[in-house]
Amino acid sequence: MSRWDTTERQALRELTRQVTAKEVAPHVAEWERAGELPRSLHKAFAEVGLLGVSFPEEVGGGGGDAVDAAIITEELLLGGGSGGVVASLFTHGIALPHIVGAGSPYLVDRYVRPTLAGDLIGSLGVTEPGGGSDVAGITTRAVRDGDEYVVTGAKTYITSGIRADFVTTAVRTGGPGHQGISLLVIDKGLPGFTVSSPLDKMGWRASDTAELSFDEVRVPARNLVGGEGDGFVLIMKQFQSERLALATHAWAMAQRCLDLTLAWVKDRETFGRPLASRQVVRHKLAEMARQVWVAKTTTRSAYDAWLDTGDAVTEVSMAKNTACAACDHVVDEAVQLFGGLGYMRESEVERHYRDSRILRIGGGTDEIMNEVIAKRIGL
Ligand SMILES: Cc1cc2nc3c(=O)[nH]c(=O)nc-3n(C[C@H](O)[C@H](O)[C@H](O)COP(=O)(O)OP(=O)(O)OC[C@H]3O[C@@H](n4cnc5c(N)ncnc54)[C@H](O)[C@@H]3O)c2cc1C
Repeated sequence: MSRWDTTERQALRELTRQVTAKEVAPHVAEWERAGELPRSLHKAFAEVGLLGVSFPEEVGGGGGDAVDAAIITEELLLGGGSGGVVASLFTHGIALPHIVGAGSPYLVDRYVRPTLAGDLIGSLGVTEPGGGSDVAGITTRAVRDGDEYVVTGAKTYITSGIRADFVTTAVRTGGPGHQGISLLVIDKGLPGFTVSSPLDKMGWRASDTAELSFDEVRVPARNLVGGEGDGFVLIMKQFQSERLALATHAWAMAQRCLDLTLAWVKDRETFGRPLASRQVVRHKLAEMARQVWVAKTTTRSAYDAWLDTGDAVTEVSMAKNTACAACDHVVDEAVQLFGGLGYMRESEVERHYRDSRILRIGGGTDEIMNEVIAKRIGL
């Protein structure tokens, strides 16, 4: 039996389907307009055991691994959720793992448990106005002063940054380059910490995104995750699961658009016949299905490589680029086949078309993935 189809995972899939139908799909349009998710959604997902999946039970999680988290993403998207919902409801998937892996028991109790219980919201702050791809070049500075760090700098494009109660923040505690980077958990509301108005985005509109500014913010030294200088390695390790999650996001969104388009072309008639009867349309759908299959199998094969060997940097980078390119193709063809309706805000494929575009940028761009692959193949 495949690791994707165990009895437990079938039950997880079914539970996510039910929760998506009841708690998510009917409200997506309203959240997309509002530009953020209600906090009550985090609580609702925590109460049914879906928020903490893939985090160990010892830190308040629900157990399981990255495959369980992927199943939730798949079902949320296949059931009519949006990319913005997935990004914002599960931002803790990028904000907490470093704390779980290297943080003190104090940090786990203070931030991890309440977040997995749906009581706090966390963000990850790496990208700066001066650049995101070059993580080793960040300039936000944290200077030790007694029992505190004094933080000065800025972060941008931070998912859930408007609502976040805390930000796991990449700061420079040492000299230039990757050895000088550390992770510090910074509470919202500390003097000198300001949050911009919500950034106005093309897609992922249900997900609030912020620019954060730190002006001599005094952060307790006990909020350091691991040791000084550990930040870069912690961030890089975590990138593998983030990139796999984005590949999952891409293939599942593409599958949803394929499903919606299949139903549409059977129903829509032009010149007296259903669209599905035209060879040019049938071939478009066949190509969309092929690309979804390639995206899905490549993504799942990268999960297998990662879970079985622990080192799948090449496969993960290839899967992210493959799935995101497939998603862009499929959402574009979906809009085309829906005609004018595909361009209207009322149609779901229009939303996926806008949401797809971030996937080739976030979590490491296409170009950065190709740089990683190039190094791995000996260039
Ligand atoms: C909606 C949204 C949500 C986000 N959420 C978060 C978040 O929660 N936390 C966070 O820290 N960040 C977040 N980001 C930031 C995201 O990770 C960065 O935008 C991304 O890493 C790219 O960084 P950049 O925008 O600074 O582009 P740049 O690094 O300036 O790159 C610009 C272009 O140049 C290319 N490029 C860069 N270097 C090279 C090179 N050496 N060779 C060839 N091409 C190159 C890039 O691929 C890209 O096409 C988010 C972004 C968006 C849009």
